[in-house]
Amino acid sequence: MQLKKPTIIALDGPAASGKGTLARKLAEHFNLALLDTGALYRAVGLGVLKAGGNPENEKDALNAASKLNEEILKSPEIRGESTGAAASKVAAMPAIRQKLLEYQRNFAVNPPLGKIGTILDGRDIGTVICPDAPYKIFITADVETRAKRRFLEEFGPDGSNDDYQKILFDLKARDERDMNRSEAPLKPHENAYLLDTSNSSIEAVFEAAVKYVSGKNVK
Ligand code: C5P
Repeated sequence: MQLKKPTIIALDGPAASGKGTLARKLAEHFNLALLDTGALYRAVGLGVLKAGGNPENEKDALNAASKLNEEILKSPEIRGESTGAAASKVAAMPAIRQKLLEYQRNFAVNPPLGKIGTILDGRDIGTVICPDAPYKIFITADVETRAKRRFLEEFGPDGSNDDYQKILFDLKARDERDMNRSEAPLKPHENAYLLDTSNSSIEAVFEAAVKYVSGKNVK
């Protein structure tokens, strides 16, 4: 099987859609370098919180963006929902998106030695960062399904209904911000391959994505 060059997979979708898992599986399967672009926005959001700033204040956000480093990118706190919420606030600012743009585009077209291409996962990879990527996938699921998955991951089978409602509320707020911001809102590229995981296992979704990438006839 011959993949189209440059081999770039743009993978977008909302929070807790299964995007991260699918990205890791595709990266391994096709031998691609993976960039989780959400981590960049999360690192900026976390930097603001750690400095005692306000994620809705552009000065605070720019200050945190200028101090981005490996240490904060690898910090376990980056994964929490409060960091996710802060990330989606700083991500609505055009100046922050601009600051992170070049790094993402450079990564996309410069796979490290030994890798045949790249996969980037995020919200605007197909629409803004790599609109020319030969493979574009948009993965989604209804918000209740996503909240349930996140809830089971975090609390296991013994979590309370209040915990579930809080997760659902937070995810809806994040969707709302990500889809309705004026700069690079979350939406599928018109040519993206759409995968709805509401009623499918990650295995089935992975197989469908592999078929799409392997079989696509890109002109
Ligand atoms: O994907 P993840 O949940 O880690 O992303 C955190 C937040 O970062 C998202 O809610 C979104 O606001 C922002 N983001 C973005 N563009 C990307 C990736 C993430 O705006 N390409």
